[in-house]
Amino acid sequence: MNTKKIVILGGGLTGLSAAYYLQKELAARSEKAEITLIEASPRLGGKIKTVRKDGYVIERGPDSFLERKSSAPELVKDLGLESQLVNNAVGRSYVLLKDGLHPIPRGAVMGIPTQVKPFVTSGLFSLTGKLRAAGDFILPKGEQQNDQSLGRFFRRRLGDEVVENLIEPLLSGIYAGDIDKLSLMSTFPQFYETEQEHRSLILGMKKSVPGTSQKHDPSRKKGIFQTLTGGLETLIEALEESLTGVRVLKGTRVNAIKKQSNGTYEIGLSSGLQVEADSVIMALPHTAAGSLLEDSEFDYFRQMPSTSVATVALIFSKENVSMTKEGTGFVISRNGGYSITACTWTNKKWPHTAPDDKVILRAYVGKAGEETIVDQSDEQLAAIVMEDLKKTMAISGKPEDYVVSRWKQSMPQYNVGHRENMERISHYTSQTYPGLYLAGASFGGVGLPDCIDQGKAAVKKTMEYLKL
Ligand SMILES: Cc1cc2nc3c(=O)[nH]c(=O)nc-3n(C[C@H](O)[C@H](O)[C@H](O)COP(=O)(O)OP(=O)(O)OC[C@H]3O[C@@H](n4cnc5c(N)ncnc54)[C@H](O)[C@@H]3O)c2cc1C
Repeated sequence: MNTKKIVILGGGLTGLSAAYYLQKELAARSEKAEITLIEASPRLGGKIKTVRKDGYVIERGPDSFLERKSSAPELVKDLGLESQLVNNAVGRSYVLLKDGLHPIPRGAVMGIPTQVKPFVTSGLFSLTGKLRAAGDFILPKGEQQNDQSLGRFFRRRLGDEVVENLIEPLLSGIYAGDIDKLSLMSTFPQFYETEQEHRSLILGMKKSVPGTSQKHDPSRKKGIFQTLTGGLETLIEALEESLTGVRVLKGTRVNAIKKQSNGTYEIGLSSGLQVEADSVIMALPHTAAGSLLEDSEFDYFRQMPSTSVATVALIFSKENVSMTKEGTGFVISRNGGYSITACTWTNKKWPHTAPDDKVILRAYVGKAGEETIVDQSDEQLAAIVMEDLKKTMAISGKPEDYVVSRWKQSMPQYNVGHRENMERISHYTSQTYPGLYLAGASFGGVGLPDCIDQGKAAVKKTMEYLKL
């Protein structure tokens, strides 16, 4: 029998995880297949990029993953990198309003209150805002719906002020999106389920989130995120090194995919070569998938928006930065009139990332509707970030150095209806393109663990399809 050919498109974390688990599964079953991974850029890793320089570890893209979603720590351990795993330092986080930094009330789960006193005493909300949020205790549950925007859902339950001063800054930070467009069911379906089950979101979260009490356990000294001391790119390097049974083509763009009459796929490459595949794992952004798959059923990918963001990491000597607040960073309310959208006090959250006498402040700019800022020069972006940061802490002098990273059209937007669109597209793909599987941040979850899970799921389907 001919050896099966499996081609993975895209060498970000999704594609690399797929390649890794495919190689592993084949070995475990003593099966053989020809695996090729094709990546447009000269380097692997996609959005994972670390700058390591003079004792600094600066992430250009993602800086960590949720420990609770087990696939990321599992992969790290599998690759023998366990000794590099660290959790973030626990510390207060804040929201920046027009009048300054306010601590996020204790007990808030993604902004939803689960303890009354910290909310009642918080300076984040007016008395009217607090009374409106208390309406959650008596409001009936919403009607069953296929989907709705995060904004609509939370505004109805907790009122505009809690949404704008806490929930929006926290949630839109993850997606760089517009909370009034983002899909509840594709981002946080558990909140909808909580409302359906318990009616009150506050009471439901109190009961259903096991982490609520644990979070406030004073003996818990570790944060809920993890990273690697050498930076997340360590994971990419270890994955690349482990792919001994995979042909990796870097600097090679996929230009075309054609289904052949015999059921295989012909993949056209920028090098002019063609590669044949019995099965294809497409771990590409939706923009790339949309230009390769021309059928009208994939129009959704051609219309689905992505937003642009930039990260700006500023380095200072400790004596030049005076922080009056203890903590690990802050998010920012849209109404605050600031250009930055979030800031991590990186050396506090991740002490391994800077020499002891240095401070790293890493800020985000850009979000849905406010993206042109990303096109400013590095110098301008550093100045804009400095201006905003100076409103929250005393900084003397200029930064010693800075690292600006632009992520243009990089944050896929799961707007209302995303889940249904994906279900429809998956069904169509399984009928029309058997053996071709979509995986990655544009489709079934943007977090790093979600990407690993999607890579793994695509491997399972490929193995079943090819009867390996
Ligand atoms: C600034 C930023 C911060 C983030 N922070 C976090 C965080 O802290 N924690 C977290 O969990 N997540 C975070 N995320 C999200 C997370 O980084 C991404 O969702 C994830 O890395 C996406 O992985 P992927 O493999 O699906 O896609 P990508 O990393 O985008 O990889 C896709 C790959 O496909 C390649 N490609 C594209 N077109 C072609 C083609 N035609 N032919 C061949 N190859 C092609 C690209 O070059 C790329 O390498 C962040 C994202 C950004 C941008």
